[in-house]
Amino acid sequence: MLEAAKETLARIRALPLTGRVRIMNVCGGHERTISMAGLRAALPENVELIAGPGCPVCVCPEEDVHDAIALSRLANVTLVAFGDMLRVPANVPKAEPRSLEAAKAAGADVRPIASPREAAAIARASPAREVVFFAAGFETTTAPVAAMIAEGVPSNLSVLLSGRKTWPAVAMLLDSEQPGFDALVAPGHVSAIMGPEEWRFVPERHGLPAAVAGFEADSLLEAFHSVLRQHLEHRAILDNCYTAVAKPGGNPTARRLIADVLDVVDANWRGIGVIPASGFALKPELERLDARRRFALDPAAGRKRVGQMPPGCDCARVVLGKIKPNECVLYGKACTPRNPVGPCMVSDEGACRIRWAAGLRDGATAKS
Ligand code: SF4
Repeated sequence: MLEAAKETLARIRALPLTGRVRIMNVCGGHERTISMAGLRAALPENVELIAGPGCPVCVCPEEDVHDAIALSRLANVTLVAFGDMLRVPANVPKAEPRSLEAAKAAGADVRPIASPREAAAIARASPAREVVFFAAGFETTTAPVAAMIAEGVPSNLSVLLSGRKTWPAVAMLLDSEQPGFDALVAPGHVSAIMGPEEWRFVPERHGLPAAVAGFEADSLLEAFHSVLRQHLEHRAILDNCYTAVAKPGGNPTARRLIADVLDVVDANWRGIGVIPASGFALKPELERLDARRRFALDPAAGRKRVGQMPPGCDCARVVLGKIKPNECVLYGKACTPRNPVGPCMVSDEGACRIRWAAGLRDGATAKS
């Protein structure tokens, strides 16, 4: 651990905390650093770190995964998606592929990509094929997707968009009777795009301390120190502990590109349900790029699957921070990274996968 991080940790340990304080993060990168650096165990006993809705792959609704699999199986279609999405399982009849990876094994042309530009390049290189880009992600992913669309895409490329905004899920939790946390550490990279101001509602509307943090342990510890001090002093502000990257107003170019090509719409979150104004959709004038329309997918077929999770999977409660990954009865038994049952064990940003990667296989304690 860096000297700066050690010094911040010492300041946290010196705080005169008494009761339990629950701090939620909503970023897979935060959760990864917390788990890999052992920050839970390093913090005082009464500070609990909770992983909240920070994994876009985990909340991608089943109907979208289902649509992507269906599209990939069409003749003359190449389906491209960020690598994590390929292994996300869906509930399907036994004879059908349950993931894009399974569809690929059965002969579909499914390709992992690392950036939206790669999707456009594949379409340009294969003009005789229809290329569908399954674009699932939060604002940090949606911004480059918007840039790709704004630049102009080949006529044989369409988009199956499953973009989500982060803050409405936190707002939904805070508007519920049991939010389950006392302070928030807000995602630095989302803030770098959309502006840290998006998180002001946490202190201003709900009276909870909040701080923006980057991915590194020292930035996270600064944010923990900030919200714990606020908690002790009975005050609530939004403290930006990531000023080098998360500037006021965010990235104006990225925000303009998003606003130019996408609308904000109500959106379904897997296992959670519809959250108002939490998703992105192509603007009506760009509907020619919408894969659902281009291939006349039946929206009723998708709606039937709303909210579904694989049997026994507790991903929805894990995503909302209601339980720890190892409190799911399938964790480490039926569900492992090699054989994932739910999306939280698939994605590198999923709480179950991260916990497993950190070597925490069983033995839940309040601190783990
Ligand atoms: S252990 Fe598997 S099934 Fe259980 S919540 Fe995690 S991903 Fe879902």
